Amino acid sequence: MADRVAVVTGGGRGIGRAVSILAARAGYRICLSYVSDAAAARQVVAAIEAEGGQAVAVQGDVGVETDVLALFAAADRLGTVAALVNNAGVVDVAARVDAMSAERLRRMMTINVVGSLLCAREAVRRMSTRHGGQGGSIVNLSSVAAKLGGAGQYVDYAASKGAIDSFTVGLAREVAPEGIRVNAVAPGIIDTEIHASGGQPDRARALAPLIPMQRPGTAEEIGGPIVWLLSEEAAYMTGAIVDVTGGR
Ligand code: NAP
Repeated sequence: MADRVAVVTGGGRGIGRAVSILAARAGYRICLSYVSDAAAARQVVAAIEAEGGQAVAVQGDVGVETDVLALFAAADRLGTVAALVNNAGVVDVAARVDAMSAERLRRMMTINVVGSLLCAREAVRRMSTRHGGQGGSIVNLSSVAAKLGGAGQYVDYAASKGAIDSFTVGLAREVAPEGIRVNAVAPGIIDTEIHASGGQPDRARALAPLIPMQRPGTAEEIGGPIVWLLSEEAAYMTGAIVDVTGGR
């Protein structure tokens, strides 16, 4: 498939940015989404085009169904959807469960869980041989938090990533006979702006002593394994949740 498209949600910054650039180098046309930072998304498109690749940036909230439909319509205009990286995700400020509002919980689950499922639904509708597609590969962003639980800080976020793990295993088994592989990458502490959005801009560096490798990971160190999972080198992998944590 010369016109194969990778949809990368939240592809304007952080891990999604690295995935977009590395997947473009691997030969995909990139359809990336962003929710508010148009300048960052445009910069990723420009970086890909400067290397001879093709990319478009689409504004939209993964938790809003009409936005997800518009994202995949844009991907269809670019070529054949062959890969999805469910990367868009949010944290919230550190809090105990007994202090969390219903609004916070709904936002967390809507973006991190419902958003990933909606995007996967659209991808399967296009990739599955059952629907006349040519197969494909999906990678979901889990987190080591799914196992550690986030006590005292973000149990809601950890639970949303636990849901991603179950979703990864279940969808992988559901669509394996239809030419689609579904895996997850579970990063440890990665040096991106997500920590600032949770009110702890220095979190990645501050927690370095707790990481066996004594440093946070980079976005590229997560993007590399994700793009590898998308590739034919991982042709017999599905339903796997791959820890990329520096040993944590
Ligand atoms: P980040 O730097 O905060 O970037 C998040 C990206 O997601 C941005 O491009 C943002 O768009 C987009 N986004 C946020 N809400 C969205 C929504 N409702 N709809 C569409 N896009 C949305 O985050 P990151 O650190 O790269 O994290 C990426 C993924 O890895 C997340 O799923 C996160 O949970 C997971 N993860 C991260 C770490 C870590 O330590 N960094 C560890 C484990 C797992 P804008 O640019 O428009 O704001």
